[in-house]
Amino acid sequence: MTESSKQRALVVLSGGQDSTTCLYWAIDRYGAGNVGAVTFDYGQRHRVELECAADIARAAGVPHVQLPIDTFAALGGNALTDDIDVESGDSDTSGLPNTFVPGRNLVFLTFAAALAYREGYGTLVTGVAQTDYSGYPDCRQETIDALRTAISLGMEFELAIETPLMQLSKAETVLLARDVGALDAMALTHTCYNGERPPCGHCPACVLRAKGFAEAGIADPLLERFV
Ligand code: ZN
Repeated sequence: MTESSKQRALVVLSGGQDSTTCLYWAIDRYGAGNVGAVTFDYGQRHRVELECAADIARAAGVPHVQLPIDTFAALGGNALTDDIDVESGDSDTSGLPNTFVPGRNLVFLTFAAALAYREGYGTLVTGVAQTDYSGYPDCRQETIDALRTAISLGMEFELAIETPLMQLSKAETVLLARDVGALDAMALTHTCYNGERPPCGHCPACVLRAKGFAEAGIADPLLERFV
């Protein structure tokens, strides 16, 4: 890996608020010509996420790749791939919400690294946040650091993993979106765990998103779109 490839960044884009903010953060930092996006089709129930990701990448003017991973849906047992009510509570005794898909971020980042290797991107960007209300263990900085080490060793590839949202509150993430010019693209994002457009407004993801925009004092462009 050369120093110049470090200046090329591949963003893991889910079609949601956080990864879209990361996409514009990367464009602001590296330039649109040095940024690409990858989205994983892991059998998510809400297929609208995939359309949103494609629309966002198109609007941002960056190349976009969608890759299939059908293993998580085959494993089942979580509210993102199965027909389980998000608000019904925990999926098991771990105390984690039923939206936790064990291993998802680890697999996403590993496949993203494989694509980065092939396409000459020296940096991955992911929207994970330690402050995430759900406490997903694969969103911790420690997990990301360990994974980066494993990927660099296992692929003989000096990969950087940037996590611009890691320490930010939801409100700070909204302010960052504004600062990097991502607000217009927020109208194209999808967050609602119930897969509704306009968003349902009461699922945990909608509530968290609304709280972030309210605390930042900024109207959510996604809601404005449906007024
Ligand atoms: Zn919702």
